Amino acid sequence: MTRTADDLARVLRRIDGRGYPAYRDLRGAWRFPRFELDVRRVQGDPYAAPSRVAAVLDPSEASFPAALLASPSRRTGLACLLARRFAALARPTRGAPGNRGRNAGGSGRSGEVAMADPRQVVLANTAVTVDAEGAVEARFTVGLPARGRRVLGRAAERLLLESAPRLVESALTYAAHDPAAATLHAETNEDADALRDQLPGRGLASFVADGALLPRRSGVDDRPLATDRAVTFESPASFRVVLERPNGPPTPGMGVPRGVTLLVGGGYHGKSTVLDAIARGVYNHRPGDGRERVVTDPTAVKLQSEDGRPVTGVDISPFIGALPGAQDTTRFFTANASGSTSQAAATVEALEAGAGLLLVDEDTAATNFMIRDRRMQALVRGDDEPITPFIDRVRSLYEERGVSTVLVVGGSGDYLDVADHVVGMIRYRPRDLTAQAQDVAAAHPTGREAASGPVRWPSRRRCPDAASVRPERGRREHPRVKVQDRRTVVFGDEIIDLSGVAQIVSDQQARAVALAVAAARRHMGPGKTMEHVLAELGASLERHGLDILDPRRTGDLAAPRLQDVSAALNRLRTLALHGERR
Ligand code: ADP
Ligand code: MG
Repeated sequence: MTRTADDLARVLRRIDGRGYPAYRDLRGAWRFPRFELDVRRVQGDPYAAPSRVAAVLDPSEASFPAALLASPSRRTGLACLLARRFAALARPTRGAPGNRGRNAGGSGRSGEVAMADPRQVVLANTAVTVDAEGAVEARFTVGLPARGRRVLGRAAERLLLESAPRLVESALTYAAHDPAAATLHAETNEDADALRDQLPGRGLASFVADGALLPRRSGVDDRPLATDRAVTFESPASFRVVLERPNGPPTPGMGVPRGVTLLVGGGYHGKSTVLDAIARGVYNHRPGDGRERVVTDPTAVKLQSEDGRPVTGVDISPFIGALPGAQDTTRFFTANASGSTSQAAATVEALEAGAGLLLVDEDTAATNFMIRDRRMQALVRGDDEPITPFIDRVRSLYEERGVSTVLVVGGSGDYLDVADHVVGMIRYRPRDLTAQAQDVAAAHPTGREAASGPVRWPSRRRCPDAASVRPERGRREHPRVKVQDRRTVVFGDEIIDLSGVAQIVSDQQARAVALAVAAARRHMGPGKTMEHVLAELGASLERHGLDILDPRRTGDLAAPRLQDVSAALNRLRTLALHGERR
């Protein structure tokens, strides 16, 4: 029998004043006039993690027109708009019409309503989903009100029967949104996917549209810098390409060709800002973000030096030869990598995870991994220097492996010899310096000896051992994955440090990445290579969606990239390989 909102009100009156566990009677579905409220998990006490509920709207209740639902990218763009609105209305500082129940004299999290806010990035997520028919499911948390540890029935009634329906009404229905804005969110996202799809056919690694606004408000605020202070992007004529998009006129902008591209220029002239925008171009962005028409090869990996990280049996021999202590660098293990070995490992791991584009910023790279100049070559000779720097491998990466690189270099002109293209950033404006760079390279030979002989790119296959990946604590059976922040994830008894994984954009994505590492166990076994495990995981996510990662079906996940799942797995300190000892 369907229970109605009136039934829910009756239950709340009945349990008013009883011990907090009486809230368990709320579990399950309740039919409200315009939607169904599904109480999926009830918190154990007012101070615990809040209860989880979902609002499910039939297509006729949400009433989005068919045009907004016509493609998966349109629906994702729309879903992020709804989630952003819902989260903003629920936030206490923004006040009405959410959180009325809050501060009703309750204890703990009484009356709090919250939803994961997708902010600038548009990614499939579990907070709000819109299906092809137009049904909407929104998942959020509520703090069931209490006084001390007793049920505060009246406040709960206000929360669930007044605030929640008002939030649903003002965030999740077509009527709540400006039709033009809803269309813009759907179309902008579809355009971004269409732009990105054109990159391979045009021989491009990335595309930055004319008029894009790249700088952010601050290092901790991903919103665009105020327009009166920002210089919008304009492609040099020689790099300009025009890409098509389904929902507007063709879009001109800078095509970053495949191959080796340098971003050069004086300090503070905007080099890192361009590279970061390219790195974030693996994702779509909301209208008004400034980067909504900046798109990049979706497999791109930003690499950096990260001393102290673990490395598990990676073949770093293309970069690092015989190490003191006779460490075998074709299967390199360490619990404490140096700057150069960490960056070498990250590079090889990125190849293993299918990266077609590497992004490197001198600001965050290990100098000795990037370059060794003539004088150092003369001072420390041959056998005493194990490192073959990236400068001697970057061409082979492209020519033999088809992997492109975009590099920020302001300090090392030696790189001019190995670049296909050189973009100069001058007062935040890009210029084509390729021809000038070639002249300079010819006029000022570096005299350095490039490494000779062919590169033996790793053919070794690592097979991760499922038993070494344990998200469970101690002997317990339940996985425990907890995101402390985007950079730190508790994984069972371990902590995975993700601070070197630059393209994880939110707590929700970090959680999905960690849960995906746990889920990847199902695909591991003797003879199952890392490539195989990632491919199987990707297929499973494609087939079953994000909920496969989380049987509790929370609203806390955003789509992970396989490259970042691989990066997290590689940073798990317990990771071991089949048939190999460290
Ligand atoms: P670089 O890497 O060349 O040293 P950054 O990219 O770090 O320079 O940029 C330096 C500063 O300039 C940053 O504070 C950044 O936000 C700002 N900035 C970058 N691009 C622009 C732009 N197009 N308009 C205005 N400010 C910018
Ligand atoms: Mg910089």
